[in-house]
Amino acid sequence: MKKVTFDNKNARFYQELKKRVSDYFAQNNIKPTANTEMKVKTAIIGLSFVGIYVALVFFQWPIYITLLLCLAMAFTVAGIGFNIMHDAAHRSYSKKGWVNAVLAHSLDLIGASVALWKTKHNVIHHTYTNIPEWDGDIAQDDLIRLAPQQPYYKIHRYQYIYAFFLYSLLSIVWIHYADYRKLLTGKIENYELPKLSRKDLFILFGFKLFVFIYALVIPSFFHPWWGVLLCYLFIHLVIGFVISVVFQLAHVYENTEYPEPNPETLKIDNEWAKHQLATTANFGVKNRILSWCIGGLNFQVEHHLFPNVCHVHYPKINKILRETCEEFKVKYNEFPSFRSALRAHVRQLYILGRPEKFVQVQ
Ligand SMILES: [Zn+2]
Repeated sequence: MKKVTFDNKNARFYQELKKRVSDYFAQNNIKPTANTEMKVKTAIIGLSFVGIYVALVFFQWPIYITLLLCLAMAFTVAGIGFNIMHDAAHRSYSKKGWVNAVLAHSLDLIGASVALWKTKHNVIHHTYTNIPEWDGDIAQDDLIRLAPQQPYYKIHRYQYIYAFFLYSLLSIVWIHYADYRKLLTGKIENYELPKLSRKDLFILFGFKLFVFIYALVIPSFFHPWWGVLLCYLFIHLVIGFVISVVFQLAHVYENTEYPEPNPETLKIDNEWAKHQLATTANFGVKNRILSWCIGGLNFQVEHHLFPNVCHVHYPKINKILRETCEEFKVKYNEFPSFRSALRAHVRQLYILGRPEKFVQVQ
C-alpha cells in the first residue's frame, strides 16, 4: 500500500520542540507517564463506573433518578475513554507495557475494539490529520460533509443543525456496526488495516459478548427488558454526543486546514509537526475542570505532537509549545473557551454546507 508521507528533511521546529519538552521532564525530574494525580483520577472514574452500575442494575429507583444515573453512567464511560483508555492506548499511561495494555482494554469493556481503535486513531488519525480520504475522523458518511474536498449534497445546508443528532449515534454505530465493517472491508478510507491475530479476534468477540451480558442480559433479570434497552440507548446517545463533540472541536473549526498530498507522489509539502499545528486547535486550556473531565483533550495540539506523554503534563508543555511556535513563526491555534470552539465548529459545518457562498482555499 502506498502511503502519504511528509517533508521532514528540515524538521528543525519539531526537533527543537522535542528537545525542550524532554529537557523540561529531565530538569524537573518528572516522568512523562501517569503521576499520582492521574492514578487517583483513574481510581475515581473506575469506582464511579462500578458504583453507578450497581445502583442502576440492582436497585429500583423513580424514573428521574434512573435517568440521572444513566446520565452519570454516560459521562463516566466517556471519562474512561478520554482519560484512561486514550492514554493507555497511546502507551503514555505507564512505562510498563502490560499496564497500558490492560487499561487500554477498558475500551473493549465498553464494547468497542481497542485493537481496531489503535490503528484507526493512533496511526491513521494521528498521522494523516484532516487529510481527505486518509483521516477516518473527517470521513463519516454522505450525510455529513466535514471537508471541502468531499462531495456536496443539498442536505448539507442543514448539517450544522442535524450533525449533533448524528454525533449522538457514534457509539451505537461504532460498537454494533463500524467495528464489524472495519473487519470485513479491512480498510479505513485509503488505509489498509493490518490483519488482526487470532488472539485479537478472540478478545474482540469475547468482550463484545461480555458487554452484551453485563449491559443487557443481567439487568433484564432485575428490570423489564424494554426499560433496560431504553436505558442502554439513552446512555449511548449521550456517550456518542459527548465523545464526538470533544473530538470534532479540535480539528473541524472555521479556518482549519485540509492539506492534500501530491496525487502522484502522495507527498505532503510540509513537515509533519507543522501539519499537525495547521489542522489542530486547543480550546479552554485555562479551564481546569474541563481539562480534568476530558482527559486533556482540550490540549489537542500537545496531544498530537506528544501522544506518548500522559495528558496531566499538557498544561506545562503548553507554555514551551507557545514559545517555540512564536520563535519559529508557526501558527498556534487556540480557542479561549469550550463555547468559542463549539461556535467555530458549528460555523465550519455551516460553511461546508454552503459551498456556493464560501469557497475554502486550502
Ligand atoms: Zn490520540
